[in-house]
Amino acid sequence: MIWSEIRRLIGIRANILDGRALADNVMDEIAKKLMALKKRKNIVPGLAVVLIGDDPASQIYVRNKQKACQRVGIGSYVKKLDKDVTESYVLGLIKELNSDVHINGILVQLPLPSHINPECVINAISPEKDVDGFHPLNAGRLLRGESCLEPCTPKGIIRLVEQTGEGIAGKNVCVIGRSNIVGKPVSLMFLKRDATVTICHSKTDSLAKVASGADILVVACGKPNIIDDQFVKKGAIVIDVGINRTDIGLTGDVDFKKVSGKAGWITPVPGGVGPVTISMLLENTLLAAQIRDDYEL
Ligand code: NAP
Repeated sequence: MIWSEIRRLIGIRANILDGRALADNVMDEIAKKLMALKKRKNIVPGLAVVLIGDDPASQIYVRNKQKACQRVGIGSYVKKLDKDVTESYVLGLIKELNSDVHINGILVQLPLPSHINPECVINAISPEKDVDGFHPLNAGRLLRGESCLEPCTPKGIIRLVEQTGEGIAGKNVCVIGRSNIVGKPVSLMFLKRDATVTICHSKTDSLAKVASGADILVVACGKPNIIDDQFVKKGAIVIDVGINRTDIGLTGDVDFKKVSGKAGWITPVPGGVGPVTISMLLENTLLAAQIRDDYEL
């Protein structure tokens, strides 16, 4: 029995946007480029990840980033700090990393312990090494439509939508969530690609009505399964950014079972936006190295 027939029988109409497969392709490309770079110039770009405290989810994310670096041949430097470390110590470490020639990218794993101000720490990272794309200079450049280090999750969302081959220009895009790390930047990235963008949030009136008018629906609100088929236009592209740890395991913000019967394309959780985000981090590290050392790949 062919795959499309199996999907129809179990009620899945949508094509699945496979984030793992996309991430694998991106990483294979990066690995090839890095191998050539090492051969030609003996350069190995480096990524420093600062992990503060013992949050279990953060530890998993950092381990996954480390593995991904190893897979493609990026030098991985994990700086583990105690949860009681002072903010001035962290700022001192960032300063050191900013001037370390072996490090091309710096990432501080969020969330931070409550006595450390994340804005202060992010602002201390050199914008040229800000591979998360959270520094105000990169955020400002993104707003102005200039080239910059773009935040990884929004960059991954755009790549996933591009995978569908359906085009972005002229489409109605609805983004649910207005955070600085997902909702706002991804909205700007769709706008740059000539989409008509609506940004929704917890105070949006008639959310289902607004969302169900969208050709592309991006959901990043951190509420398990809050989006069902009432929020989705038939045939729409649905990108589920949410990662929610529930009693029954990891789940997204989108009710996959209901929405996959109506959407044209949908990302699963896990296996959708998450893996692509990590591959974008590697791409940004390579880009940061390229910009600093001014070489072509
Ligand atoms: P956040 O900072 O908590 O922002 C959540 C946004 O959703 C806010 O703008 C909030 O509106 C809005 N919202 C909350 N409840 C809503 C509702 N009932 N209806 C409409 N809007 C609502 O979250 P975030 O950092 O953007 O992350 C969002 C989700 O994505 C989380 O599950 C997170 O774990 C996940 N995430 C995944 C990745 C990945 O790589 N896959 C990366 C980053 C984040 P207000 O502004 O009005 O409060």
